[in-house]
Amino acid sequence: MQDGQRWAVVTGASRGIGAAIARRLAADGFGVSLLATREDLLTGISDEIRAGGGEAEVVVCDLTDREQLAAVCKRLVDDHPAVHALVNNAGIVRIGAVADFDGADWDDVMEINVRATFELVRALEPALRAAAPGGASVVNVSSVMSLVVAPTIVSYLASKGAVNLLTRGLAVELGPAGIRVNAIAPGYIRTDMFETSHPPARQEALGKAHPLGRVGTPEEVAATVSFLCSDDASFVSGTILSVDGGLACVAAIPR
Ligand code: NAP
Repeated sequence: MQDGQRWAVVTGASRGIGAAIARRLAADGFGVSLLATREDLLTGISDEIRAGGGEAEVVVCDLTDREQLAAVCKRLVDDHPAVHALVNNAGIVRIGAVADFDGADWDDVMEINVRATFELVRALEPALRAAAPGGASVVNVSSVMSLVVAPTIVSYLASKGAVNLLTRGLAVELGPAGIRVNAIAPGYIRTDMFETSHPPARQEALGKAHPLGRVGTPEEVAATVSFLCSDDASFVSGTILSVDGGLACVAAIPR
């Protein structure tokens, strides 16, 4: 790591929104730890960042494995005593009606979307404190589905609601150390998650449901994360910032 370089940890950096965030933070001058399970994809992003003159490292970790996560957190803090940005982006959705929803799916959603987010903040807090004089920012990736609801994804709704209040609680608790904590609430964004969750006809209908008339791109989400990790957001903490083309403003009230 070069002297004075800011460091970021991005989870779910192997594809989709996380990969776009990692690329954007690298372009902003952060060195980036890229965390996910798929080493091949992470290596591709890391090679790309390095080829562009940036710094990146691959951190393979299954966030459902608590022992693995604890070991990875220790390694991150040992290798990076100051972490300026932590982006908890990794997340999964599991679809199913309440009556036959799988208990193991519930656990996985909560483990990745909520518990891993908390554990990473807890473990990296000393490194965030160390970075705070130069700006330390945590961004948790929530969802428009924490503000409005849809059927068959109750565990996802519950997890993202928890992320919002976790964010607000952490903002209050870590603020005195100079650590800003915010969440973003994306609308539908064209990624693997979006494409595997919805058939093409529904994808089009979902795009039209946004007041801006389309789904968003990972790069549009990454731009918002870039702002929240920058000095331009130096007085922004505890907010749930929508990046949803206006979707949260649309309530399905019959005429
Ligand atoms: P995605 O394309 O499915 O990518 C998910 C990312 O999470 C991948 O990098 C994946 O990495 C990682 N991940 C999943 N399980 C993991 C595990 N057990 N351990 C470590 N990493 C794991 O999803 P996305 O659409 O980019 O979503 C990113 C975030 O945005 C999520 O929190 C999601 O809830 C939120 N979001 C998405 C949308 C949308 O419409 N796409 C809307 C609102 C909010 P590996 O496969 O390499 O493990």
